[in-house]
Amino acid sequence: MTDQHSLKIYNTLSGKKEEFKPITPGYAGMYVCGPTVYSDVHLGNCRTFCSFDMIYRYLLHIGYKVRYVRNITDVGHLTDDGEDRMAKGAKVQQLEPMEVAQRYTVGFHDMMRIFNTLPPSIEPRATGHIPEQIEMVQQILDNGLAYERNGSVYFDVPKFATQQPGVYGSVSGRILDDLYAETRELKSQEEKNHPADFAIWMKARPQDIMVWNSPWSVGFPGWHLECSAMSTKYLGKTFDIHGGGNDLKFPHHENEVAQNHGACGCHPANYWLHTNMLLLNGKKMSKSDGNTITPTELFTGDSEHTSKAYSPMAVRFFMLMAHYRSTLDITDEALLAAEKGFLKIMETNRLLQSMQVNARDFDGSETESDRAILGLVKDAYDGMNDDFNTAIAIAALNEIGSYVHKLANKQMDASEVSPWVIERIKTVFSTFLFDIFGLRDETTSGADSSTIEGLMSLILEIRGQARAQKDFSTSDKIRDALAEVGITVKDGKEGVSWSK
Ligand code: AMP
Ligand code: ZN
Repeated sequence: MTDQHSLKIYNTLSGKKEEFKPITPGYAGMYVCGPTVYSDVHLGNCRTFCSFDMIYRYLLHIGYKVRYVRNITDVGHLTDDGEDRMAKGAKVQQLEPMEVAQRYTVGFHDMMRIFNTLPPSIEPRATGHIPEQIEMVQQILDNGLAYERNGSVYFDVPKFATQQPGVYGSVSGRILDDLYAETRELKSQEEKNHPADFAIWMKARPQDIMVWNSPWSVGFPGWHLECSAMSTKYLGKTFDIHGGGNDLKFPHHENEVAQNHGACGCHPANYWLHTNMLLLNGKKMSKSDGNTITPTELFTGDSEHTSKAYSPMAVRFFMLMAHYRSTLDITDEALLAAEKGFLKIMETNRLLQSMQVNARDFDGSETESDRAILGLVKDAYDGMNDDFNTAIAIAALNEIGSYVHKLANKQMDASEVSPWVIERIKTVFSTFLFDIFGLRDETTSGADSSTIEGLMSLILEIRGQARAQKDFSTSDKIRDALAEVGITVKDGKEGVSWSK
């Protein structure tokens, strides 16, 4: 485990950065609210899922065994007009709701693969967990924190707030009196005792098509309930991390907390993490407002908002350049700058990985540059341990990169950086770029960069042997053949290097 104990996470519940202390040492349970699969994911959704992917990857890197649960919402998420998003999608597209769910789940998975995110450990669907949700409604009713009205069941928010003061509002910071008529779920407002109450089970109306039997009516679960039921099932009543976008704090996460307390009397997660919004033209990117760019539009350049196409990894790098809790405005200039930064850091990495240092030239003592470079490695880790600050980590890697370029251009003498420090930063670069940031070197088109590096070191070793035997015709043949495929081999004082 690397630096595991110094990880600090900003917890929405306390409004502070806190040292991460998992319930079981060495294990981390993380639940992230997944997409509602009624249309294509937009880039804002991708930002949130890429941010949690980076968090998942970092937890794995520092040695945690992580159970990462991310759900698929395929029922119960209503529009502001009280219509089920899935059923609405089905009506518009003349499909079965399950066809809609399948189509956009597949599309979502494809997009997550394009962005090189790791699949979660468990990806439960709301429709696959109706019995668990019905059971939770019953528990909340048994605990006296919900009431039935005409076949629907509502969570009694004022009663809960009186019984367990300080809990309702702990995620969103909202005060009960401010919550009148603020819910995303407007159906049957008149049935509720209080406007802040929310449905945990809804009786179906004639037009509803995704319905199940329950003790109260033929109907469907409220949207918030699925996350309470599925996180409890797969991670336990209380687990470590719960995540989602900022816009889910209220009502979704607030109501989730209330439901978990209502069912089992305990808080679901110890750390609540919220990613900030991706903006377009200074406004939240949102499907319902039509203020969106789809990832495909960005990758093909087919968007009125951009001047050209951007690759998935340049876009991922663009997202990583900002801290996950900062808003991020997508503009053509910012994407151009990110693309430049991405290409540069990949080029630096290739240069670094190809460096062959000759240990004989060093006397074993630590040089001033060694200390500076190792300080920058520490800065990169400190950045990540300070609430996953990828922006700081990237800045530190770029500073290390300037040493790499100086060495390669001979602005610095090879003896100024010890061989073991070069080896260390080779590992640091590939670990950060590929394992933690989840980037891919797109210039290696198809083959992953470690394969190319392996092949190159083998080819250069064979060439080195030929040169040692004064077989210059073979060594030149290798160099020329590599040049033909765009790889330049340099024979320097400090060894052989290659670049693409
Ligand atoms: P939805 O499919 O609407 O439930 O959203 C899926 C996830 O994307 C949720 O965690 C949202 O908070 C997140 N999300 C939605 N819009 C944005 C945005 N503009 N920027 C970042 N995350 C977003
Ligand atoms: Zn959720």
